[in-house]
Amino acid sequence: MLWDTHMHCYFSGDSEADPDDMIKAAKAAGLSGLCFTDHLDYDFPFDPPGLFEPDLDAYGEAMRALRAAHTGDFRVLHGIELGVQPHLHEKLARVVADGAYDFVICSSHTVDGMDLYYKDFYEGKDEHTAYLRYFTSILENLDGFSDFDVYGHIDYVVRYGPNTNKFFTYDAYADVLDAILQKLVDMGKGIEINTGGFKYGLGHPNPCEDILKRYRALGGEIITIGSDAHEPKHVAYDFAKVPGILREAGFTHFTVFENRKPVFYPLP
Ligand SMILES: [Zn+2]
Ligand SMILES: [Zn+2]
Repeated sequence: MLWDTHMHCYFSGDSEADPDDMIKAAKAAGLSGLCFTDHLDYDFPFDPPGLFEPDLDAYGEAMRALRAAHTGDFRVLHGIELGVQPHLHEKLARVVADGAYDFVICSSHTVDGMDLYYKDFYEGKDEHTAYLRYFTSILENLDGFSDFDVYGHIDYVVRYGPNTNKFFTYDAYADVLDAILQKLVDMGKGIEINTGGFKYGLGHPNPCEDILKRYRALGGEIITIGSDAHEPKHVAYDFAKVPGILREAGFTHFTVFENRKPVFYPLP
């Protein structure tokens, strides 16, 4: 049975979900467990300031209580999704060291001080230039930050570009994508299959199947599964597709991080 190890609740500035309702939805979907990964994005270029800076003590306390209450057939783990930017590397490393997390996702939501969700990042750039800049910024983050377990939704930029993923292929960015994936493999880090891409109508997960396949071909073994749900109805979104996609990409197992250590489960 699968786990959903990327989801948000009301500790994230863009979610109002009660964690208990997310747990109920995960149980109803037949999962074995979940991991909350609420957002921490310092210096996010958006009003109000601090929208994605939860009270980490309150978050930790709530998560530890939920974790302790779910130790049987259904497990609840405590993670975090860090919005990484080059000037934040040291600050985020301290957060991780202090937090006693099970799982840390490193994500690029902001590049060159611009939120990828808004169009200013894409203005004045053709699509290839914009997407390439997003990917090279991941490489810059990997040069300075290593205190994480998986890199989140590696082709996240295609969710929001003016043409989304209509013209996007692995081949068009093979050099930079290979550099990212090889570096992650060399660092012993994982990636995730994030089914938010299906929810956004891309017809593919983030990252797309060819990138998942390439990570595996380069020797990568650590793949976590997440819906990126911000409300209960999106928990385990399109998970029926996940085992087939991962097998097709060459994986036999998926990964759940517990106390920052990977645990491998056979794909159903
Ligand atoms: Zn994210
Ligand atoms: Zn997320």
